[in-house]
Amino acid sequence: MKIHEYQAKEILKKYGIPIQDGIAIDDINQAEATIDQVATDYNTNQFVIKAQIHAGGRGKGGGVKFSSSKEKALENAKNILGMTLITHQTTDEGQLVRKIMVAEALDIEKEFYVALTLDRSTGQNVFMISTEGGVDIEEVAEKTPEKIKRIHINPGQGILPFQARQCAYALGLEGDLFKQGVKLFMKLYKCFVDIDAEIVEINPLVITEQGQLIALDAKFNFDGNALYRHKDIVEMRDENEEDPTEVEAAKFNLNYIKLDGNVGCMVNGAGLAMGTMDIIKLKGGEPANFLDVGGGANVETVKNGFRIILSDKNVKAVLINIFGGIVRCDRVANGIIQAVSELDLKVPIVVRLAGTNADIAKELLEKSDVSLIAAETLEEAAEKVVAEVK
Ligand code: GDP
Ligand code: MN
Repeated sequence: MKIHEYQAKEILKKYGIPIQDGIAIDDINQAEATIDQVATDYNTNQFVIKAQIHAGGRGKGGGVKFSSSKEKALENAKNILGMTLITHQTTDEGQLVRKIMVAEALDIEKEFYVALTLDRSTGQNVFMISTEGGVDIEEVAEKTPEKIKRIHINPGQGILPFQARQCAYALGLEGDLFKQGVKLFMKLYKCFVDIDAEIVEINPLVITEQGQLIALDAKFNFDGNALYRHKDIVEMRDENEEDPTEVEAAKFNLNYIKLDGNVGCMVNGAGLAMGTMDIIKLKGGEPANFLDVGGGANVETVKNGFRIILSDKNVKAVLINIFGGIVRCDRVANGIIQAVSELDLKVPIVVRLAGTNADIAKELLEKSDVSLIAAETLEEAAEKVVAEVK
C-alpha cells in the first residue's frame, strides 16, 4: 500500500526527521486561507504547490510549482488542483489531482537521494544513497549506477552508529551537517522498521542554504501483510489512487492485479497463478490479469472473480485453472456453471480442473448446458485459450 507525500511527511516528522512542511487541502476554496496559514506558520512568503498523487515524477509533469508570492501560489494551486497529471509513473491517461500540498519553499543548495528497502538477495535491509538526487535519479541509476552507494544493515542487529556514519560519509557531509546526517539515518532506520515499510524513499533530501538537512519529498510503500498491526496507516489509504478493479477485488478477498494482455485468468493459489501466466506467455498469449481466488473458492468467489475479470474490456477469453486441494473441484464446477449462466458471458472459457473430485467436476460440466472448453492438462488449456484469442 502506498500513501501520499504529505502523509509520509507526517510520519517522518513523528520520528524527528526534519521535513519541508506544509498543509494539504482538497478544496480550492481553502487555498487562500491555507497559503496565509503556511506563511505565518513557517514565516515565509514563498511557497511550493505540490500535487498529491501516488505516482512520482510530479515535478517534471508540472505538478510541483515554486511560487514566489501568495498570489502566484494561489494561481498555481488553481492550476494544479483538478488537473490530470501525467508522469512516467502514471498510466497514459494520467491521474486526477484531488489534493495538493501547500508547502514552505526552501532555498536548496544540494539534492541527495536516500532510500531504505529490503535487499532480498542478501536478506538484509539496505540504504541506497546518492549525491546525485532530485528529479533525474532514474537516469543516474541507468547510466552511472556506481553513484548509488549501498549500505547493508543486518535486520536482527539493527542499525549501528558506525553504519549511520557510513551513510553520512557517502553523501560527503562534513561538520554539523555530518552530525545531522547521522541522526537522520538512525531515525530513518527506526521509522522504516517500526512501520513495516517495504520502501522509504526521500528524493530529494536537501541541504538548504541555511545549512539544514531536510526531507523535501517522501515516498513510502507498506508491506500489506503487516498492515493489520498499523491501523493508523491503513486509515491513510486513498482508494482514489488505486486501480478500481483491484479495490473491488480486495473487498471479496481476491488477489487481483490487472495486466495488459487479453487472456483472463482465474486460478487458485498465487504460485499456480504465476505458473499459469507463464505458460500462457509460453504459448504465445498475454495474460490480462493475475487472479488468485484463494484456497476456499466457492460459487460466490467464482462469480465475483468472473465479474472482475470481465470488467476489463481487453479480455477476449478466460482460462480457469483450479487445483482441487482444500477446495473441491465439484464445488468450483458448480460455481462456474452458475456464474456462466447468470452472468451471460460472451467470451470463450477454457476450464482445467485437477485434483480432488476432478472427475465429478468433469461430469457436472459435461452435463450442464453452458458452453465451456474442457482441457485435461495445463499445457492443453493454455494452447486452447491462446487459440481462442488468435
Ligand atoms: P517529484 O517530482 O514527484 O519527485 O516531486 P518533488 O517533491 O521531489 O519535487 C520535485 C523537484 O521540485 C525537487 O527535486 C526540487 O528540485 C523542486 N522543489 C520542490 N520543492 C522545492 C523548494 O522548496 N525549493 C526549491 N528551490 N525547489 C523545490
Ligand atoms: Mn521527489
